[in-house]
Amino acid sequence: MTGLVPPDGTPLLIGGKLVPGGAGVFATINPATEEVLGHAANASIDDMDAAIGAARTAFDETDWSRDPALRAHCLRQLRDVLRDNIEELRAITVAEVGAPVMLTSGPQLEGPIADLSFSADLAENYVWQTDLGVAEQMGISSRRVVRREAVGVVGAITPWNFPHQINLAKIGPALAAGNTVVLKPAPDTPWCAAVLGPLIAEHTDFPAGVINIVTSDDHTLGARLVEDPRVDMISFTGSTQTGRSVMAGASATLKRTFLELGGKSAAIVLDDADIATAASYTAFSVAVHAGQGCALTTRLLVPRAAYDAAVDAAAKALSGLRAGDPTSPGTVCGPVISARQRDRVERYLDIARAEGGRIVVGGGRPADKDHGFFIEPTLIAGLDNTATVAQEEIFGPVLVVIAHDGDADAIRLANDSPYGLSGAVWGTDPDRVERVVAGVRTGTLSVNGGLWYHPDAPFGGYKQSGIGREMGVAGFEEYLETKVVATPA
Ligand code: NAD
Repeated sequence: MTGLVPPDGTPLLIGGKLVPGGAGVFATINPATEEVLGHAANASIDDMDAAIGAARTAFDETDWSRDPALRAHCLRQLRDVLRDNIEELRAITVAEVGAPVMLTSGPQLEGPIADLSFSADLAENYVWQTDLGVAEQMGISSRRVVRREAVGVVGAITPWNFPHQINLAKIGPALAAGNTVVLKPAPDTPWCAAVLGPLIAEHTDFPAGVINIVTSDDHTLGARLVEDPRVDMISFTGSTQTGRSVMAGASATLKRTFLELGGKSAAIVLDDADIATAASYTAFSVAVHAGQGCALTTRLLVPRAAYDAAVDAAAKALSGLRAGDPTSPGTVCGPVISARQRDRVERYLDIARAEGGRIVVGGGRPADKDHGFFIEPTLIAGLDNTATVAQEEIFGPVLVVIAHDGDADAIRLANDSPYGLSGAVWGTDPDRVERVVAGVRTGTLSVNGGLWYHPDAPFGGYKQSGIGREMGVAGFEEYLETKVVATPA
């Protein structure tokens, strides 16, 4: 397809070498056309074992974990070589992920590449040790120093929806902190990870084995990474269901697990808000990238008296958006990633109908498309928060409008979810807004359209949306151990 992708398939990166997959190759598909784009190396279990071994050796036998200047240098090289190839990467991302091209100037591509600077700067500027001073215990006077050190070998397991954002938001901080990494990307978007291999091997000074990239169509390779005793930590982003398997699999070796999982976030509209603005903004955001964002606010909670007005405003916003060609600069809602994901969204729409929901806009595949995994932006009304589509993550362009009976009820409904990833509040009275902000149990909140996404802002979930935080200093510190050293004083 492009110079970054060889015709016989992208290679694995193991121990600094670009190698073919022991299990051959597997196809990667354009979700907008259903065409096979090309192939990626299909790693075998032996390849995964070799990648873990290479990461272990690089951690144990090189100075990588003790050389922050080298780490900052290599991360900047990676940032620069990705920028040098940005147009090829953009074409690959749009084709493989089905991501609207407009998003590639932000979180789908250019944003996370720029954010490597944040990790490189932290490698250089982080305060690695703190002097606690002298203290006396049992007659012994000691000077205590707290040191922060890399955890060791990190297994990074990632999903397909924002592959560059999630791959780079894991490998950037993990490497900056001095760890070595095995990256296992999602089978649906292997190229977005695999293209890093040749760029790293041929254009950066990362020591061999510091970063390994293992593409595969077999989920059990992820499980292997989780269970291997040579791996010290798993950094996982994906569904809550898989997150549970990861936590269980990691328990045998008691390894650290950092989990970024699913969401069913609520946008709360208070009765003093501009209802039309809040409803249309929320509806628009749910259509972006066909709703395949874990932090999207897919439940719109509106005052009961304003319910019809909110549904009308949301319907107007969604009717103006069609699921379309992701290569077109005006497209907001592209395809979902696969036939499996499209079927899953359609199943949820059937459940909504069966439970008495009213499909106000959309409701299925667009009539004008014979190919591609498209779903129309969809608005569901007439259900309460106990409905299946209000409780479970759909991961498609689907918004459910639910009535609330005042601020306290809105907070109760927002929290009546197994998830706690994100949310939004719309209102004009700062005291009321503050009470809602304090009451909602989620990791990020937008007030009146504010955007929390930035490299210095930690992102992650409460409850079953995850454990730990990605990005920001908190995200970097996920990848650090703490060691206290005491010497006689
Ligand atoms: P998924 O859980 O099916 O797969 C994620 C990754 O886990 C893939 O690489 C997969 O191969 C691997 N995997 C599957 N089974 C495994 C196992 N038993 N052990 C180890 N690894 C295993 O998720 P997905 O369908 O690729 O992505 C969509 C999900 O990701 C949604 O639920 C979404 O909310 C979530 N997500 C969360 C965030 C966040 O930051 N909280 C961000 C993006 C996506």
